[in-house]
Amino acid sequence: MVYINQVEFENFKSFGGSVKIPLEEGFTVVTGPNGSGKSNILDGILFCLGLANSRGMRAERLPDLINNSKVKEGKASETFVSVKFNIEDWSPREDVPPLDLEEDDIALNRGQKEWIVSRKLRLMPGGSYASTYTSDGRQCTLQQIQRVLRDISVDPEGSNVVMQGDVTRIVSMNNKERRTLIDELAGVALFDSRIEQTHSK
Ligand code: ATP
Ligand code: MG
Repeated sequence: MVYINQVEFENFKSFGGSVKIPLEEGFTVVTGPNGSGKSNILDGILFCLGLANSRGMRAERLPDLINNSKVKEGKASETFVSVKFNIEDWSPREDVPPLDLEEDDIALNRGQKEWIVSRKLRLMPGGSYASTYTSDGRQCTLQQIQRVLRDISVDPEGSNVVMQGDVTRIVSMNNKERRTLIDELAGVALFDSRIEQTHSK
């Protein structure tokens, strides 16, 4: 199974300085006192993978993600998060033809064992800010990362991340809604949307 095996933070929310958090395959439980930064780990993953908007990361503005102690009036500051995926078990789906790669698409190679995504947010003295993303150390766009995320079945609108409140929502779904969710998890929804796109052309 594809899984995240390490998250690295630099000056992200409560993580001042540099912190590497290893994650195991399967089930990982994070415990600690209230306010110690458990949920901030998830926020970091959402931030790095650009899933923030769709999955409700807890920050009013992106610069709120920079560790407070690093934000000084009139000075630039930044935060960095990287997410390392173990993709040893990943292989392109054999049962469907691959998507056509656009010229500037990035793609995983067969036999590649890890995929590392990073995002840096830089806040300028004037208050403007900008993000830069990398894939395996090379600068790229969020769209390029999203393309690879789709390949490893991480859908920004999907259920890879289950937030607080989602469980209640799933329990109270009607049959049709639950079926849509299962289609999404099974990867069928992607083909439905492509069929729709084809019909509307
Ligand atoms: P709970 O058990 O209550 O869910 P938690 O372990 O999930 O707690 P988080 O919500 O991850 O805790 O962390 C909250 C802490 O992060 C707060 O103490 C808050 O002050 C701190 N925090 C959030 N943003 C920043 C920031 N930009 N700089 C420094 N600290 C921050
Ligand atoms: Mg929490």
